[in-house]
Amino acid sequence: MSKQTLSFQAEVAQLLKLVTHSLYSNPDIFLRELVSNASDACDKLRFEGLNSPELYEDTPDLDVRVSFDKAAKTITITDKGIGLTQQDAVEHLGTIAKSGTRDFMSKLSGDQKNDAQLIGQFGVGFYSGFIVADKITVESRRAGLTLAEGVRWSSAGTGDFEVETMERAERGTSVILHLKDDAAEYLNTWKLKSIISKYSDHISLPILMKKEAWKEGENDQPGEMATTDEWETVNQAAALWTRAKKDITPEQYDEFYKQISYDSQPPLASTHNRVEGSTEYTQLLYIPAKAPMDLFNRDKAAGIKLYVKRVFIMDDAQALLPTYLRFVKGVVDSSDLPLNVSRELLQESRAVKAIREGCTKRILSMIEDLAANEPEKFSAFYAEFGAVLKEGLGEDFANRERLAKLLRFASSTTDTTSVGFADYKARMKEGQDAIYYITADTQAAGKNSPQLEIFRKKGIEVLLMTDRVDEWALNYLHEFDGTPLQSVAKGAVDLGKLQDEDEKKAAEEAQTQFKPMLDRLKETLKDKATDVRATTRLVDSPACLVVQDGDMSTQLARMLKQAGQ
Ligand code: ADP
Ligand code: MG
Repeated sequence: MSKQTLSFQAEVAQLLKLVTHSLYSNPDIFLRELVSNASDACDKLRFEGLNSPELYEDTPDLDVRVSFDKAAKTITITDKGIGLTQQDAVEHLGTIAKSGTRDFMSKLSGDQKNDAQLIGQFGVGFYSGFIVADKITVESRRAGLTLAEGVRWSSAGTGDFEVETMERAERGTSVILHLKDDAAEYLNTWKLKSIISKYSDHISLPILMKKEAWKEGENDQPGEMATTDEWETVNQAAALWTRAKKDITPEQYDEFYKQISYDSQPPLASTHNRVEGSTEYTQLLYIPAKAPMDLFNRDKAAGIKLYVKRVFIMDDAQALLPTYLRFVKGVVDSSDLPLNVSRELLQESRAVKAIREGCTKRILSMIEDLAANEPEKFSAFYAEFGAVLKEGLGEDFANRERLAKLLRFASSTTDTTSVGFADYKARMKEGQDAIYYITADTQAAGKNSPQLEIFRKKGIEVLLMTDRVDEWALNYLHEFDGTPLQSVAKGAVDLGKLQDEDEKKAAEEAQTQFKPMLDRLKETLKDKATDVRATTRLVDSPACLVVQDGDMSTQLARMLKQAGQ
Protein backbone atom coordinates (compact mmCIF):
# COMPACT_ATOMS: atom_id res chain seq x y z
CA MET A 1 0.00 0.00 0.00
CA SER A 2 1.41 3.33 -0.94
CA LYS A 3 0.85 6.27 1.34
CA GLN A 4 -2.81 7.12 1.82
CA THR A 5 -4.44 10.00 3.64
CA LEU A 6 -7.74 9.17 5.30
CA SER A 7 -10.17 11.12 7.47
CA PHE A 8 -11.05 10.29 11.05
CA GLN A 9 -14.59 9.28 11.87
CA ALA A 10 -16.50 12.43 12.86
CA GLU A 11 -16.63 11.40 16.53
CA VAL A 12 -12.86 10.93 16.65
CA ALA A 13 -12.28 14.34 15.13
CA GLN A 14 -14.55 15.85 17.77
CA LEU A 15 -12.76 14.00 20.53
CA LEU A 16 -9.33 15.00 19.26
CA LYS A 17 -10.31 18.62 19.14
CA LEU A 18 -11.25 18.39 22.76
CA VAL A 19 -8.11 16.52 23.74
CA THR A 20 -5.85 19.00 22.01
CA HIS A 21 -7.66 22.20 22.88
CA SER A 22 -8.61 21.77 26.50
CA LEU A 23 -6.64 22.26 29.64
CA TYR A 24 -5.69 18.93 31.04
CA SER A 25 -6.13 18.28 34.68
CA ASN A 26 -4.09 15.14 34.41
CA PRO A 27 -1.85 14.73 31.35
CA ASP A 28 -0.03 11.75 32.93
CA ILE A 29 -2.81 9.42 31.95
CA PHE A 30 -1.56 9.20 28.37
CA LEU A 31 1.01 6.66 29.53
CA ARG A 32 -1.52 4.64 31.47
CA GLU A 33 -3.66 4.35 28.33
CA LEU A 34 -0.83 3.41 25.98
CA VAL A 35 0.66 0.89 28.38
CA SER A 36 -2.72 -0.67 28.90
CA ASN A 37 -3.17 -0.99 25.12
CA ALA A 38 0.24 -2.64 24.89
CA SER A 39 -0.77 -5.04 27.63
CA ASP A 40 -4.12 -5.77 25.95
CA ALA A 41 -2.26 -6.54 22.72
CA CYS A 42 -0.10 -9.07 24.58
CA ASP A 43 -3.20 -10.61 26.18
CA LYS A 44 -4.68 -11.01 22.71
CA LEU A 45 -1.54 -12.71 21.46
CA ARG A 46 -1.53 -15.08 24.41
CA PHE A 47 -5.12 -15.96 23.74
CA GLU A 48 -4.70 -16.56 20.00
CA GLY A 49 -1.40 -18.27 20.68
CA LEU A 50 -3.19 -20.99 22.65
CA ASN A 51 -4.34 -22.50 19.39
CA SER A 52 -1.67 -21.08 17.09
CA PRO A 53 1.67 -21.20 18.90
CA GLU A 54 3.45 -20.23 15.67
CA LEU A 55 2.22 -16.66 16.24
CA TYR A 56 4.96 -16.22 18.83
CA GLU A 57 7.53 -16.51 16.01
CA ASP A 58 10.89 -16.60 17.76
CA THR A 59 10.07 -14.14 20.54
CA PRO A 60 8.00 -15.94 23.15
CA ASP A 61 8.69 -13.51 25.99
CA LEU A 62 6.25 -10.68 26.13
CA ASP A 63 7.00 -7.28 27.60
CA VAL A 64 6.36 -3.58 27.14
CA ARG A 65 9.26 -1.17 26.67
CA VAL A 66 9.09 2.54 27.32
CA SER A 67 11.95 4.70 26.10
CA PHE A 68 12.58 8.29 25.16
CA ASP A 69 14.93 10.30 23.01
CA LYS A 70 15.76 13.69 24.43
CA ALA A 71 17.18 15.11 21.24
CA ALA A 72 14.32 13.98 19.02
CA LYS A 73 11.75 14.78 21.78
CA THR A 74 10.01 11.44 21.41
CA ILE A 75 8.65 8.79 23.76
CA THR A 76 8.22 5.29 22.36
CA ILE A 77 6.05 2.52 23.81
CA THR A 78 6.80 -0.84 22.22
CA ASP A 79 5.05 -4.16 22.75
CA LYS A 80 5.48 -7.65 21.35
CA GLY A 81 1.76 -8.24 21.24
CA ILE A 82 -0.65 -9.19 18.51
CA GLY A 83 0.12 -6.13 16.37
CA LEU A 84 -2.05 -4.40 13.78
CA THR A 85 -2.70 -5.18 10.14
CA GLN A 86 -3.03 -2.24 7.80
CA GLN A 87 -6.76 -2.57 7.93
CA ASP A 88 -6.72 -2.79 11.76
CA ALA A 89 -4.74 0.43 11.86
CA VAL A 90 -7.29 2.23 9.71
CA GLU A 91 -10.26 0.84 11.58
CA HIS A 92 -9.05 0.75 15.15
CA LEU A 93 -7.11 3.97 15.20
CA GLY A 94 -9.52 5.92 13.02
CA THR A 95 -12.81 5.16 14.73
CA ILE A 96 -14.11 4.84 18.25
CA ALA A 97 -15.19 1.39 19.23
CA LYS A 98 -14.72 1.41 22.95
CA SER A 99 -17.90 1.77 24.91
CA GLY A 100 -16.08 3.59 27.68
CA THR A 101 -15.05 6.29 25.24
CA ARG A 102 -18.55 6.59 23.89
CA ASP A 103 -19.79 6.90 27.42
CA PHE A 104 -17.27 9.64 27.96
CA MET A 105 -18.42 11.45 24.85
CA SER A 106 -22.01 11.35 25.99
CA LYS A 107 -21.06 12.98 29.27
CA LEU A 108 -19.32 15.97 27.71
CA SER A 109 -20.89 19.16 28.89
CA GLY A 110 -19.29 21.65 26.54
CA ASP A 111 -17.66 23.36 29.49
CA GLN A 112 -13.92 23.10 28.91
CA LYS A 113 -12.90 22.83 32.50
CA ASN A 114 -15.34 20.07 33.41
CA ASP A 115 -14.66 18.17 30.24
CA ALA A 116 -10.93 18.31 30.75
CA GLN A 117 -11.43 16.81 34.18
CA LEU A 118 -13.48 14.05 32.65
CA ILE A 119 -10.63 13.14 30.34
CA GLY A 120 -8.38 12.77 33.33
CA GLN A 121 -10.80 10.43 35.00
CA PHE A 122 -11.78 8.34 32.02
CA GLY A 123 -8.83 8.37 29.76
CA VAL A 124 -9.83 8.24 26.13
CA GLY A 125 -7.66 5.36 25.09
CA PHE A 126 -5.21 5.75 22.29
CA TYR A 127 -6.17 9.36 21.65
CA SER A 128 -4.88 10.39 25.06
CA GLY A 129 -1.49 10.41 23.35
CA PHE A 130 -2.44 13.72 21.77
CA ILE A 131 -2.55 15.34 25.19
CA VAL A 132 1.25 15.46 25.12
CA ALA A 133 2.08 14.87 21.46
CA ASP A 134 1.49 16.96 18.37
CA LYS A 135 2.20 13.98 16.18
CA ILE A 136 1.88 10.23 16.80
CA THR A 137 3.44 7.55 14.64
CA VAL A 138 2.41 3.93 15.06
CA GLU A 139 4.53 1.22 13.52
CA SER A 140 3.25 -2.31 13.73
CA ARG A 141 3.24 -5.80 12.32
CA ARG A 142 0.53 -8.26 13.04
CA ALA A 143 1.72 -11.61 14.46
CA GLY A 144 1.93 -14.18 11.68
CA LEU A 145 2.29 -11.74 8.78
CA THR A 146 5.45 -11.41 6.69
CA LEU A 147 8.02 -8.75 7.48
CA ALA A 148 6.90 -6.80 4.41
CA GLU A 149 3.36 -6.52 5.73
CA GLY A 150 3.99 -3.99 8.45
CA VAL A 151 2.10 -0.73 8.68
CA ARG A 152 3.00 2.83 9.55
CA TRP A 153 0.18 5.07 10.72
CA SER A 154 0.69 8.68 11.60
CA SER A 155 -1.36 11.70 12.46
CA ALA A 156 -1.05 15.17 13.86
CA GLY A 157 -4.34 14.68 15.64
CA THR A 158 -6.32 16.98 13.42
CA GLY A 159 -8.86 15.81 10.85
CA ASP A 160 -6.92 13.06 9.13
CA PHE A 161 -4.20 10.41 9.32
CA GLU A 162 -1.82 8.68 6.95
CA VAL A 163 -1.18 4.97 6.49
CA GLU A 164 1.41 3.16 4.43
CA THR A 165 3.06 -0.23 4.18
CA MET A 166 6.41 -0.66 5.86
CA GLU A 167 8.86 -3.42 6.48
CA ARG A 168 9.07 -4.32 10.13
CA ALA A 169 11.15 -7.10 11.62
CA GLU A 170 9.61 -7.18 15.10
CA ARG A 171 6.15 -8.48 15.74
CA GLY A 172 3.94 -6.05 17.65
CA THR A 173 3.55 -2.33 17.90
CA SER A 174 5.58 0.79 18.60
CA VAL A 175 3.73 3.98 19.42
CA ILE A 176 5.99 6.99 18.95
CA LEU A 177 4.89 10.25 20.53
CA HIS A 178 6.43 13.41 19.13
CA LEU A 179 6.10 15.61 22.17
CA LYS A 180 4.74 19.11 22.20
CA ASP A 181 7.18 21.72 23.41
CA ASP A 182 5.41 22.08 26.74
CA ALA A 183 5.54 18.33 27.41
CA ALA A 184 9.33 18.10 27.63
CA GLU A 185 9.08 17.18 31.32
CA TYR A 186 8.20 13.64 30.22
CA LEU A 187 11.66 13.15 28.72
CA ASN A 188 12.79 11.96 32.10
CA THR A 189 13.26 8.48 33.51
CA TRP A 190 12.13 9.36 37.01
CA LYS A 191 8.97 11.03 35.77
CA LEU A 192 7.96 8.14 33.51
CA LYS A 193 8.81 5.56 36.16
CA SER A 194 6.67 7.27 38.73
CA ILE A 195 3.70 7.39 36.37
CA ILE A 196 4.13 3.71 35.57
CA SER A 197 4.25 2.74 39.20
CA LYS A 198 1.21 4.85 39.96
CA TYR A 199 -1.02 3.57 37.19
CA SER A 200 0.44 0.45 35.69
CA ASP A 201 2.04 -1.42 38.54
CA HIS A 202 -0.54 -4.20 38.47
CA ILE A 203 -0.07 -4.93 34.76
CA SER A 204 0.97 -8.56 34.65
CA LEU A 205 3.67 -8.02 32.01
CA PRO A 206 7.10 -6.64 32.76
CA ILE A 207 7.34 -2.98 31.77
CA LEU A 208 10.95 -2.17 30.94
CA MET A 209 12.86 1.08 30.82
CA LYS A 210 16.50 1.75 30.16
CA LYS A 211 18.68 1.86 33.24
CA GLU A 212 20.25 5.14 34.16
CA ALA A 213 23.82 5.67 35.25
CA TRP A 214 25.92 8.62 36.25
CA LYS A 215 27.88 9.99 33.34
CA GLU A 216 30.94 12.16 34.07
CA GLY A 217 30.89 15.45 32.24
CA GLU A 218 33.48 16.03 29.55
CA ASN A 219 35.57 19.18 29.11
CA ASP A 220 34.68 20.55 32.55
CA GLN A 221 30.92 20.11 31.92
CA PRO A 222 28.98 18.93 34.97
CA GLY A 223 28.10 15.26 35.02
CA GLU A 224 24.50 13.97 34.78
CA MET A 225 22.31 10.88 34.91
CA ALA A 226 22.05 9.32 31.47
CA THR A 227 20.34 6.25 30.11
CA THR A 228 22.40 3.17 29.35
CA ASP A 229 21.59 0.39 26.93
CA GLU A 230 20.54 -1.98 29.66
CA TRP A 231 16.81 -2.56 30.29
CA GLU A 232 15.28 -3.02 33.72
CA THR A 233 11.79 -3.91 34.87
CA VAL A 234 10.08 -0.97 36.52
CA ASN A 235 6.74 -2.44 37.63
CA GLN A 236 5.87 -5.35 39.89
CA ALA A 237 4.78 -7.32 36.83
CA ALA A 238 2.43 -9.51 38.78
CA ALA A 239 -1.30 -9.26 38.12
CA LEU A 240 -2.77 -7.43 41.10
CA TRP A 241 -5.05 -10.28 42.16
CA THR A 242 -2.17 -12.75 42.26
CA ARG A 243 -0.37 -10.71 44.89
CA ALA A 244 -0.81 -11.09 48.61
CA LYS A 245 -3.44 -8.80 50.12
CA LYS A 246 -0.96 -7.33 52.54
CA ASP A 247 1.21 -6.14 49.68
CA ILE A 248 -1.56 -4.21 47.98
CA THR A 249 -2.45 -0.68 49.04
CA PRO A 250 -6.03 0.65 49.01
CA GLU A 251 -4.94 3.05 46.24
CA GLN A 252 -3.79 0.14 44.11
CA TYR A 253 -7.08 -1.65 44.60
CA ASP A 254 -8.93 1.52 43.61
CA GLU A 255 -6.77 2.17 40.59
CA PHE A 256 -7.28 -1.38 39.38
CA TYR A 257 -11.02 -0.97 39.78
CA LYS A 258 -11.01 2.18 37.70
CA GLN A 259 -9.12 0.43 34.96
CA ILE A 260 -11.43 -2.52 34.67
CA SER A 261 -14.67 -0.63 35.17
CA TYR A 262 -14.10 2.65 33.30
CA ASP A 263 -15.60 4.21 36.41
CA SER A 264 -14.17 7.53 37.47
CA GLN A 265 -14.98 7.11 41.16
CA PRO A 266 -13.43 4.71 43.61
CA PRO A 267 -15.55 1.64 44.44
CA LEU A 268 -17.76 1.40 47.51
CA ALA A 269 -16.31 -1.89 48.68
CA SER A 270 -14.12 -4.72 47.51
CA THR A 271 -13.22 -8.27 48.41
CA HIS A 272 -10.14 -10.24 47.40
CA ASN A 273 -9.74 -13.91 48.19
CA ARG A 274 -8.04 -17.04 47.16
CA VAL A 275 -10.51 -19.87 47.34
CA GLU A 276 -9.13 -23.32 47.84
CA GLY A 277 -10.80 -26.69 47.88
CA SER A 278 -12.37 -28.74 45.15
CA THR A 279 -12.48 -25.72 42.83
CA GLU A 280 -9.60 -23.30 43.14
CA TYR A 281 -9.80 -19.72 42.04
CA THR A 282 -9.00 -16.17 42.99
CA GLN A 283 -11.72 -13.55 43.14
CA LEU A 284 -11.27 -9.81 43.26
CA LEU A 285 -14.72 -8.28 43.29
CA TYR A 286 -15.92 -4.70 43.63
CA ILE A 287 -19.20 -3.00 44.39
CA PRO A 288 -19.27 0.33 42.52
CA ALA A 289 -20.31 3.50 44.31
CA LYS A 290 -22.84 4.47 41.67
CA ALA A 291 -25.19 2.48 39.50
CA PRO A 292 -24.72 2.68 35.74
CA MET A 293 -27.48 4.26 33.65
CA ASP A 294 -28.48 0.91 32.23
CA LEU A 295 -28.66 -0.98 35.52
CA PHE A 296 -32.12 -2.27 34.74
CA ASN A 297 -31.17 -3.71 31.41
CA ARG A 298 -30.90 -7.36 32.36
CA ASP A 299 -29.03 -8.13 29.14
CA LYS A 300 -26.35 -5.62 29.98
CA ALA A 301 -22.81 -6.91 29.88
CA ALA A 302 -21.74 -8.44 33.16
CA GLY A 303 -18.74 -6.93 34.83
CA ILE A 304 -16.54 -9.93 35.53
CA LYS A 305 -13.39 -10.66 33.58
CA LEU A 306 -12.39 -14.29 33.44
CA TYR A 307 -8.78 -15.40 33.50
CA VAL A 308 -7.55 -18.96 33.44
CA LYS A 309 -4.14 -19.35 35.04
CA ARG A 310 -3.50 -15.64 34.48
CA VAL A 311 -4.35 -15.77 30.80
CA PHE A 312 -7.13 -13.39 29.94
CA ILE A 313 -10.05 -15.36 28.52
CA MET A 314 -13.03 -13.03 28.28
CA ASP A 315 -14.79 -9.91 29.46
CA ASP A 316 -18.38 -10.01 30.64
CA ALA A 317 -18.32 -13.57 31.88
CA GLN A 318 -22.04 -13.73 32.66
CA ALA A 319 -21.97 -17.27 33.94
CA LEU A 320 -19.85 -16.25 36.92
CA LEU A 321 -22.53 -14.30 38.76
CA PRO A 322 -26.32 -14.37 38.83
CA THR A 323 -28.01 -11.64 36.80
CA TYR A 324 -29.19 -9.71 39.83
CA LEU A 325 -25.56 -9.07 40.79
CA ARG A 326 -24.74 -7.64 37.35
CA PHE A 327 -23.49 -4.41 38.93
CA VAL A 328 -20.48 -6.16 40.47
CA LYS A 329 -17.12 -5.64 38.73
CA GLY A 330 -14.00 -7.67 39.06
CA VAL A 331 -11.79 -10.52 38.07
CA VAL A 332 -11.99 -14.25 38.56
CA ASP A 333 -8.88 -16.28 37.84
CA SER A 334 -9.40 -20.02 37.85
CA SER A 335 -6.96 -22.84 37.52
CA ASP A 336 -9.69 -25.43 37.03
CA LEU A 337 -10.99 -24.38 33.64
CA PRO A 338 -9.50 -25.31 30.28
CA LEU A 339 -7.78 -22.42 28.53
CA ASN A 340 -9.95 -22.82 25.47
CA VAL A 341 -13.17 -22.51 27.46
CA SER A 342 -16.03 -20.99 25.44
CA ARG A 343 -19.11 -19.13 26.64
CA GLU A 344 -21.21 -22.21 25.91
CA LEU A 345 -18.89 -24.42 27.87
CA LEU A 346 -18.97 -22.00 30.77
CA GLN A 347 -22.71 -22.45 31.13
CA GLU A 348 -22.31 -26.16 31.69
CA SER A 349 -19.14 -26.35 33.70
CA ARG A 350 -19.34 -27.63 37.27
CA ALA A 351 -16.35 -25.55 38.25
CA VAL A 352 -18.16 -22.45 37.01
CA LYS A 353 -21.19 -23.36 39.08
CA ALA A 354 -19.00 -23.59 42.15
CA ILE A 355 -17.35 -20.28 41.31
CA ARG A 356 -20.69 -18.59 40.82
CA GLU A 357 -21.95 -19.82 44.16
CA GLY A 358 -18.72 -18.76 45.84
CA CYS A 359 -18.77 -15.29 44.30
CA THR A 360 -22.44 -14.80 45.16
CA LYS A 361 -21.82 -15.71 48.79
CA ARG A 362 -18.88 -13.31 48.94
CA ILE A 363 -20.87 -10.43 47.57
CA LEU A 364 -23.73 -11.11 49.94
CA SER A 365 -21.40 -11.22 52.93
CA MET A 366 -19.81 -8.02 51.77
CA ILE A 367 -23.24 -6.33 51.70
CA GLU A 368 -24.20 -7.88 55.05
CA ASP A 369 -21.00 -6.53 56.47
CA LEU A 370 -21.86 -3.04 55.26
CA ALA A 371 -25.33 -3.35 56.74
CA ALA A 372 -23.97 -4.43 60.11
CA ASN A 373 -20.90 -2.22 60.42
CA GLU A 374 -21.08 0.68 58.00
CA PRO A 375 -24.64 1.97 57.95
CA GLU A 376 -23.83 5.02 55.83
CA LYS A 377 -22.15 2.99 53.15
CA PHE A 378 -24.95 0.51 53.32
CA SER A 379 -27.61 3.13 52.68
CA ALA A 380 -25.53 4.54 49.83
CA PHE A 381 -25.34 1.03 48.43
CA TYR A 382 -29.03 0.44 48.94
CA ALA A 383 -30.06 3.67 47.23
CA GLU A 384 -28.14 2.62 44.14
CA PHE A 385 -28.64 -1.12 44.01
CA GLY A 386 -31.47 -2.06 46.39
CA ALA A 387 -34.02 -2.48 43.63
CA VAL A 388 -31.86 -4.80 41.60
CA LEU A 389 -31.06 -6.87 44.68
CA LYS A 390 -34.78 -7.62 44.97
CA GLU A 391 -34.66 -9.42 41.65
CA GLY A 392 -32.65 -12.01 43.52
CA LEU A 393 -35.74 -13.13 45.45
CA GLY A 394 -37.06 -14.62 42.24
CA GLU A 395 -33.73 -15.64 40.82
CA ASP A 396 -31.65 -17.08 43.60
CA PHE A 397 -33.79 -19.30 45.79
CA ALA A 398 -30.83 -20.63 47.71
CA ASN A 399 -30.04 -17.15 49.05
CA ARG A 400 -33.59 -15.86 49.39
CA GLU A 401 -33.50 -15.52 53.15
CA ARG A 402 -30.18 -13.72 53.15
CA LEU A 403 -31.51 -11.35 50.53
CA ALA A 404 -34.76 -10.74 52.40
CA LYS A 405 -32.76 -9.67 55.44
CA LEU A 406 -30.95 -7.08 53.35
CA LEU A 407 -34.06 -5.42 51.99
CA ARG A 408 -35.14 -2.02 53.29
CA PHE A 409 -38.35 -0.10 52.83
CA ALA A 410 -39.98 3.13 53.80
CA SER A 411 -43.04 2.70 55.99
CA SER A 412 -46.13 4.53 57.13
CA THR A 413 -44.18 5.67 60.16
CA THR A 414 -40.72 6.39 58.68
CA ASP A 415 -39.68 8.59 55.81
CA THR A 416 -36.39 7.01 54.91
CA THR A 417 -35.96 3.71 53.11
CA SER A 418 -34.51 2.11 56.18
CA VAL A 419 -36.94 -0.41 57.58
CA GLY A 420 -35.88 -4.03 57.28
CA PHE A 421 -38.30 -6.88 57.90
CA ALA A 422 -36.49 -7.63 61.14
CA ASP A 423 -36.89 -4.03 62.38
CA TYR A 424 -40.54 -4.19 61.44
CA LYS A 425 -41.07 -7.43 63.32
CA ALA A 426 -39.42 -6.04 66.40
CA ARG A 427 -41.98 -3.21 66.39
CA MET A 428 -45.07 -5.31 65.73
CA LYS A 429 -48.10 -4.70 67.94
CA GLU A 430 -49.19 -7.20 70.52
CA GLY A 431 -51.42 -9.67 68.70
CA GLN A 432 -50.28 -8.62 65.20
CA ASP A 433 -49.53 -11.70 63.16
CA ALA A 434 -48.61 -10.39 59.73
CA ILE A 435 -46.16 -7.97 58.11
CA TYR A 436 -48.40 -5.46 56.35
CA TYR A 437 -47.37 -3.69 53.18
CA ILE A 438 -48.85 -1.59 50.45
CA THR A 439 -47.54 -1.20 46.89
CA ALA A 440 -47.77 2.23 45.28
CA ASP A 441 -46.09 4.40 42.67
CA THR A 442 -44.67 6.79 45.21
CA GLN A 443 -44.22 6.97 48.94
CA ALA A 444 -46.72 9.84 49.12
CA ALA A 445 -49.34 7.86 47.22
CA GLY A 446 -48.75 4.89 49.52
CA LYS A 447 -48.95 6.93 52.68
CA ASN A 448 -52.14 8.72 51.66
CA SER A 449 -53.94 5.64 50.50
CA PRO A 450 -57.36 5.19 52.14
CA GLN A 451 -56.42 1.55 52.55
CA LEU A 452 -54.08 2.60 55.31
CA GLU A 453 -56.62 4.41 57.43
CA ILE A 454 -57.51 1.62 59.81
CA PHE A 455 -53.83 0.77 60.26
CA ARG A 456 -52.99 4.32 61.12
CA LYS A 457 -55.85 4.48 63.56
CA LYS A 458 -54.58 1.40 65.30
CA GLY A 459 -50.97 2.52 65.14
CA ILE A 460 -49.88 -0.42 63.01
CA GLU A 461 -46.87 0.18 60.78
CA VAL A 462 -47.27 -0.61 57.08
CA LEU A 463 -44.31 -1.01 54.72
CA LEU A 464 -44.45 1.13 51.59
CA MET A 465 -43.28 -0.71 48.49
CA THR A 466 -42.59 1.76 45.74
CA ASP A 467 -40.00 0.12 43.50
CA ARG A 468 -41.31 -1.18 40.21
CA VAL A 469 -39.83 -4.55 40.96
CA ASP A 470 -41.45 -4.90 44.41
CA GLU A 471 -44.71 -6.39 43.27
CA TRP A 472 -42.96 -9.01 41.20
CA ALA A 473 -40.36 -9.76 43.84
CA LEU A 474 -43.01 -10.22 46.53
CA ASN A 475 -44.48 -13.07 44.55
CA TYR A 476 -41.42 -14.96 45.71
CA LEU A 477 -41.48 -13.92 49.32
CA HIS A 478 -44.53 -14.99 51.31
CA GLU A 479 -43.11 -14.74 54.77
CA PHE A 480 -40.18 -13.49 56.72
CA ASP A 481 -38.82 -15.50 59.61
CA GLY A 482 -42.15 -17.27 60.05
CA THR A 483 -44.37 -14.19 59.80
CA PRO A 484 -46.54 -13.96 56.67
CA LEU A 485 -46.43 -10.89 54.44
CA GLN A 486 -49.85 -9.43 53.79
CA SER A 487 -50.87 -6.74 51.33
CA VAL A 488 -53.30 -4.23 52.84
CA ALA A 489 -54.77 -3.72 49.39
CA LYS A 490 -55.98 -7.25 48.96
CA GLY A 491 -59.33 -8.70 50.00
CA ALA A 492 -60.93 -8.10 53.36
CA VAL A 493 -57.90 -7.39 55.48
CA ASP A 494 -58.07 -9.71 58.42
CA LEU A 495 -56.73 -7.83 61.35
CA GLY A 496 -57.14 -10.96 63.42
CA LYS A 497 -56.65 -10.39 67.11
CA LEU A 498 -56.10 -6.71 66.52
CA GLN A 499 -59.73 -6.16 65.77
CA ASP A 500 -61.82 -5.62 68.85
CA GLU A 501 -65.24 -7.13 69.42
CA ASP A 502 -67.04 -3.81 68.96
CA GLU A 503 -65.56 -3.34 65.53
CA LYS A 504 -66.48 -6.82 64.44
CA LYS A 505 -70.02 -6.28 65.61
CA ALA A 506 -70.24 -2.91 63.94
CA ALA A 507 -69.06 -4.48 60.68
CA GLU A 508 -71.65 -7.20 60.82
CA GLU A 509 -74.40 -4.72 61.64
CA ALA A 510 -73.31 -2.48 58.81
CA GLN A 511 -73.46 -5.41 56.42
CA THR A 512 -77.16 -5.97 57.32
CA GLN A 513 -78.12 -2.33 57.72
CA PHE A 514 -76.67 -1.27 54.37
CA LYS A 515 -77.63 -4.40 52.48
CA PRO A 516 -80.20 -2.72 50.20
CA MET A 517 -77.72 -0.03 49.24
CA LEU A 518 -74.87 -2.51 48.74
CA ASP A 519 -77.14 -4.59 46.50
CA ARG A 520 -77.99 -1.57 44.41
CA LEU A 521 -74.37 -0.59 44.08
CA LYS A 522 -73.42 -4.13 43.15
CA GLU A 523 -76.08 -4.15 40.45
CA THR A 524 -74.97 -0.78 39.03
CA LEU A 525 -71.27 -1.72 39.07
CA LYS A 526 -71.74 -5.29 37.98
CA ASP A 527 -69.46 -4.94 34.94
CA LYS A 528 -66.81 -3.13 36.90
CA ALA A 529 -66.61 -4.66 40.37
CA THR A 530 -66.91 -8.23 41.55
CA ASP A 531 -68.26 -7.30 44.95
CA VAL A 532 -69.30 -4.31 47.05
CA ARG A 533 -68.83 -4.66 50.80
CA ALA A 534 -69.24 -2.64 53.94
CA THR A 535 -65.93 -2.39 55.76
CA THR A 536 -64.28 -1.26 58.94
CA ARG A 537 -60.99 -0.52 57.22
CA LEU A 538 -61.87 3.07 56.38
CA VAL A 539 -61.76 5.88 58.89
CA ASP A 540 -62.03 9.09 56.88
CA SER A 541 -62.65 8.05 53.29
CA PRO A 542 -66.08 6.94 52.13
CA ALA A 543 -64.87 4.14 49.82
CA CYS A 544 -61.84 2.42 48.42
CA LEU A 545 -60.97 -0.16 45.78
CA VAL A 546 -59.37 -3.44 46.71
CA VAL A 547 -58.48 -6.50 44.68
CA GLN A 548 -59.46 -10.02 45.55
CA ASP A 549 -57.04 -12.18 47.44
CA GLY A 550 -54.84 -13.96 44.95
CA ASP A 551 -55.60 -11.49 42.15
CA MET A 552 -53.08 -9.27 40.50
CA SER A 553 -52.75 -6.04 42.42
CA THR A 554 -53.84 -2.78 40.83
CA GLN A 555 -50.19 -1.76 40.84
CA LEU A 556 -49.03 -4.80 38.91
CA ALA A 557 -51.96 -4.54 36.51
CA ARG A 558 -50.98 -0.95 35.76
CA MET A 559 -47.36 -1.93 35.27
CA LEU A 560 -48.23 -4.68 32.80
CA LYS A 561 -50.54 -2.32 30.95
CA GLN A 562 -47.71 0.20 30.68
CA ALA A 563 -45.46 -2.52 29.33
CA GLY A 564 -48.09 -3.19 26.67
CA GLN A 565 -49.36 -6.53 27.95
P1 ADP B 1 -9.49 0.25 23.78
O1 ADP B 1 -8.12 -0.09 24.23
O2 ADP B 1 -10.42 0.43 24.92
O3 ADP B 1 -10.06 -0.71 22.77
P2 ADP B 1 -8.14 2.45 22.61
O4 ADP B 1 -8.57 3.78 22.05
O5 ADP B 1 -7.17 2.50 23.71
O6 ADP B 1 -9.43 1.68 23.03
O7 ADP B 1 -7.54 1.59 21.44
C1 ADP B 1 -8.28 1.41 20.25
C2 ADP B 1 -7.90 0.15 19.52
O8 ADP B 1 -6.64 0.30 18.88
C3 ADP B 1 -7.72 -1.07 20.40
O9 ADP B 1 -8.95 -1.70 20.65
C4 ADP B 1 -6.81 -1.95 19.54
O10 ADP B 1 -7.57 -2.65 18.57
C5 ADP B 1 -5.97 -0.94 18.83
N1 ADP B 1 -4.68 -0.77 19.50
C6 ADP B 1 -4.27 0.26 20.24
N2 ADP B 1 -3.04 0.08 20.72
C7 ADP B 1 -2.63 -1.12 20.26
C8 ADP B 1 -1.42 -1.91 20.38
N3 ADP B 1 -0.39 -1.49 21.10
N4 ADP B 1 -1.38 -3.10 19.73
C9 ADP B 1 -2.42 -3.53 19.01
N5 ADP B 1 -3.57 -2.87 18.86
C10 ADP B 1 -3.68 -1.66 19.46
MG1 MG C 1 -7.09 1.21 25.48
